[in-house]
Amino acid sequence: MDNKETVWLALELTVQANASEAIEFALNELGALGTEINNLGKTPAETLTVIGYFNEKPDEDDLRSQISNALRIYDFSDNALKEIEWRKVEDQDWLIEWKKHWKPTETARFIIAPTWEKVEDTDKIVIRIEPSMAFGTGTHETTRLCLKAIEENYAPEMSFLDVGTGTGILAIAVAKFQVPSFRFQVTGCDTDEDSIKIARENAELNETENIEFHIGSISAETPEFDFVCANLTADVILPLLTLLIEKSRKLLVLSGILNEQESLIAGELTKYQISDFKIETDGEWISLVIERGE
Ligand code: SAH
Repeated sequence: MDNKETVWLALELTVQANASEAIEFALNELGALGTEINNLGKTPAETLTVIGYFNEKPDEDDLRSQISNALRIYDFSDNALKEIEWRKVEDQDWLIEWKKHWKPTETARFIIAPTWEKVEDTDKIVIRIEPSMAFGTGTHETTRLCLKAIEENYAPEMSFLDVGTGTGILAIAVAKFQVPSFRFQVTGCDTDEDSIKIARENAELNETENIEFHIGSISAETPEFDFVCANLTADVILPLLTLLIEKSRKLLVLSGILNEQESLIAGELTKYQISDFKIETDGEWISLVIERGE
């Protein structure tokens, strides 16, 4: 889930301008994660660059034959392709590209919108997020499952701990539910230093500066909270399970778990005599909503 570890590769193809559609088709056939045509100010007679984004290089022969095939389908000869070049993509470039496609997301009570997007008048609570390189734009199923759990279970007098806060989205959502004159502790932690910086910026953007963010994870020193939310992956949750249970007084939400990992997590929970929990599903992801005795 950590975008920072991802290395993107861009395949840049210089082609005869009118053959760009054929090349895009080939890139999609090759499993490109996204494509882009760089045709600013070019007239049809000139060449242009078509870019395909990949997280690993496709097989060289496959690449050549897909391009050749696509050109033939669109009635071009191989000569329409002038140059092929691989480039490693700086995270930032990819992000700029990806940002263009990020649109506001709605849940029952919230609209999560990028900072640059206009939001129409609404009764819902608007959360503004500048993602930079942190996870948590509200579009991911695992985040949506947590937002749902918050919408359905959070009461304004509860303290809240967000383990793996990313952009800070869940902590911000909770702070938005609180009554300004009567605030209970909201804390977000993340092992990723950049995420904490971004989370603080987002809290400021949303006027929820009362949230306390810190670098790190849940630990023996962490105090108890009424509501603990952990949108991490199953492999990260498992070693933290004892602490997550110990530190949650009323509710524990575990998210970032794949459908097929349900029995793995449920099996671990029985070791703590926990067998009664609610499972919510969104696509291939599930969350476990566990009521804790006081
Ligand atoms: N809460 C956000 C982000 C979830 S992504 C949302 O729901 O959208 C998971 C985050 O957990 C990442 O930002 C990652 O850096 C962080 N993380 C990974 N392992 C962790 C750990 N052991 N303790 C705390 N944070 C962790």
